[in-house]
Amino acid sequence: MEYNKTKISILKGDITEQKVDAIVNAANNTLLGGSGVDGAIHKKGGRIILEQCKKIGGCPTGEARITTAGNLPCKYIIHTVGPIYSSNNDRNEKLLYNAYYNSLELAVNYNIKSIAFPAISTGAYGYPVKEAIIIVFPAVIDFLDSNGSIDNIEFVLHNDEIFTVYNEYFTQNLGIL
Ligand code: ADP
Repeated sequence: MEYNKTKISILKGDITEQKVDAIVNAANNTLLGGSGVDGAIHKKGGRIILEQCKKIGGCPTGEARITTAGNLPCKYIIHTVGPIYSSNNDRNEKLLYNAYYNSLELAVNYNIKSIAFPAISTGAYGYPVKEAIIIVFPAVIDFLDSNGSIDNIEFVLHNDEIFTVYNEYFTQNLGIL
């Protein structure tokens, strides 16, 4: 679908294979790699990503940092840190919102025109996907309302259950989006 002039799509797959300008990594505060999507990005992208992350020296929850993409088909990795669901309570929504919003803002600063997001915080960090989804889309729409200038936003979901939730939300909210 389109919002303003931005194409927004959801797909099932592996984010490391996306040929977009930037893919977003669901990183942790150290930026030194982890499991899940973070592990897959570092493994396929190679050491250059880790070396740049070491120089950056970490990232607070809700913020975003950028590196090159090593061997991956995209140009940049935007590393953001979502909240650990069990340890933030009333700040979860704002921190998850910020992770998406700040990733998009950083992308626009680097003239990135296409970006792919995983379902941040919904793996090891335990954020229920049905609660996450109602933060994700408003964050993206708010960003597009205030900044614009990004052509293509993809949500790349790695498992069927999460894809289904996104798909249902997407279908049901087409009128608003
Ligand atoms: P977090 O610690 O933020 O929860 P995880 O990497 O554990 O990060 O999980 C975030 C989401 O990324 C999960 O929904 C998981 O299914 C998904 N995921 C894992 N590997 C990939 C991949 N290669 N491409 C896209 N999404 C992935």
